[in-house]
Amino acid sequence: MDPMNARPWNIIDGCERLSPGCDNCPTFWEAQQANIDYHPVVRRDQVGVPLGITLPTSLLVAAGSDLFHEAIRVEFIQEVFEVMKQADWHQFEVMTKRVERMESLSTRGLIEWPKNVIAGAAVEESRYKWRVEALQNIKARRMVMFGPITGAIGKVNLDGIESAGVVVENWGPYPRSADPMWLDEIVDQITEQNVNLLKAYWLCEEAS
Ligand code: SF4
Repeated sequence: MDPMNARPWNIIDGCERLSPGCDNCPTFWEAQQANIDYHPVVRRDQVGVPLGITLPTSLLVAAGSDLFHEAIRVEFIQEVFEVMKQADWHQFEVMTKRVERMESLSTRGLIEWPKNVIAGAAVEESRYKWRVEALQNIKARRMVMFGPITGAIGKVNLDGIESAGVVVENWGPYPRSADPMWLDEIVDQITEQNVNLLKAYWLCEEAS
């Protein structure tokens, strides 16, 4: 599954900025410009959408938001997982920065990961490497998106990670460039550890 080409499944409007990777979040800035509340709100009418798509599709779950935001009730998350389990002809990618909640719900048995659903963590710099460790505790297929890169990642153990990608920011009011050394360091580790390299975006222009 390539998250860059996945179709958005918009089941939540709004989110909340959490860490440096969120600084230029497109949905945050869109809400600011439109002067609308950015607090996350579920879109219950969208939950069944994958069941109506007959062609096998890669779907990005809660695109532009975060399914594991603390404002999203566990019952809603379970409903989303039930739909993903039923729609087993699709591939789903659940990407979060709130990996600790994803880990907690998973290890407590409140959500179970079908084979067509991949659990993903976003990690923008070294102080968030713990998100990879939390992800490794989840019994699921796993992916890591290093980005938008805001600093060096440093050494990282990718045991049990199926795929990983690297993203340089090319959106928002002030896109941040990345030191090529940060990119080389993480791409080398992905390939040396035999993890599927999704895509490496070296330059902002290439990611557009
Ligand atoms: S977690 Fe994702 S959607 Fe939410 S504010 Fe951060 S970048 Fe935006």
